Amino acid sequence: MESAPMTLNRRDFLKLSGMSAAAAAGLVAGGARNAAAQRRTDELRISEAKEVLGVCPFCSVGCGTVAHVRNGQLLNVEGNIEHPISEGSLCPKGAATFQLAYNENRATKALYRAPGSTEWQPIDLKQALDMIAERIKRTRDQYFIHEEDGVIVNRLDAMAHLGSAVLENEDNYALTKLMRALGVSYLEHHARI
Ligand code: SF4
Repeated sequence: MESAPMTLNRRDFLKLSGMSAAAAAGLVAGGARNAAAQRRTDELRISEAKEVLGVCPFCSVGCGTVAHVRNGQLLNVEGNIEHPISEGSLCPKGAATFQLAYNENRATKALYRAPGSTEWQPIDLKQALDMIAERIKRTRDQYFIHEEDGVIVNRLDAMAHLGSAVLENEDNYALTKLMRALGVSYLEHHARI
């Protein structure tokens, strides 16, 4: 059933407008109070904390960060307003840097699915790294091509490396060096795929 259209006379309209303006003013004042309270809470949270200047680890834009640390504990990470490039801005990923340290959902185990199995099993990170290292060594020993058609190529086609946007610039630099040293020429990054 369609509802009947609302009719307003001039007096009703003015009354309604006045109420809306008052409500909007109340909201603005409330918002300002909340913002002030939030600022105060933030100030208390980082009072007497040491400021450590850094660079966001995630991408080559290199936005500046300030980490607040007290008694060896990280309290907060935010954009550095004095940074000449980013001037305090951080994208959503950079703004969530704090969670690198404290997010309770952070993965602390690797998942391994054995050949032929349909089940994933959580394994220790160290164990996972040892398994990866052992496979890399075995693959390189078996498939490294030193020479092809009389030309020295030093290439390893049996392995590829896929980078990730959560790797730091320094990680990417070191990984590229490592892969080139192994002879891997298939280097990709998931942001490009
Ligand atoms: S804040 Fe965003 S844009 Fe800036 S360096 Fe980090 S990931 Fe890159």
